[in-house]
Amino acid sequence: MSLLDASLFGAASVAVSAASLVATGVFHPRVMLFGPGIWRGPSRQNAVALTFDDGPHPHYTARIAEVLARHGARATFFCIGRELERYASLARELLDAGHQLENHTYRHDTGRDLFSASRLEGDLERCQQVLVQVTGARARYYRPAVGIRNPAVHEAARRVGMTVVTWTLAARDGARRLTPKRALALAERARPGSILALHDGSPRERSPLREHTLQQLPLLLSRLRERGFSFVTLSELLSA
Ligand SMILES: [Zn+2]
Repeated sequence: MSLLDASLFGAASVAVSAASLVATGVFHPRVMLFGPGIWRGPSRQNAVALTFDDGPHPHYTARIAEVLARHGARATFFCIGRELERYASLARELLDAGHQLENHTYRHDTGRDLFSASRLEGDLERCQQVLVQVTGARARYYRPAVGIRNPAVHEAARRVGMTVVTWTLAARDGARRLTPKRALALAERARPGSILALHDGSPRERSPLREHTLQQLPLLLSRLRERGFSFVTLSELLSA
């Protein structure tokens, strides 16, 4: 999500009534209206955390990991539990390369799950169990599906013992093409401690959008490196 988009979302969020906010939730990644959450890390080190949502994906995750390896970058992958079950070997390769895996729900449901803390708790716990099988440990961080936060999301996070994490800047590559111009703009907006949101997964088997992510990722990483940033996992960023 760009700053412009974020501010538009923010204005829209403020404009709607409190009642409908409770019914749907907050999209603005920096507004924690219904509970605690993290959208950036400390600015003490010149580092950013790259995050990738919705994988693992059989056609894209390994290719994204190759680009990251070429740039000496480690990242955090917010995995969908159902995909993690299907492509556990891809996830293990990410772990072996030093990346971090976290919880992006089991079903990635943006309907009924979002309005019931109990349903969402069950879904998050199911993803935790898959993560334990793959990584040997429970995840600490939970990125809600499509970034929506409402009372059910925060309550479910609390019950499962996870911290809600959104982002500082989003590529919005789940919705539109990541162009060179937008990749460079993202790099220019980054600040020490920024959490950047991108996607490695896709609901489709083949995605033109993901090809654009892959094409522009080297440009994004190169420009961030030119600006002096290192690329760390979310845990490293937040423990700095
Ligand atoms: Zn997602």
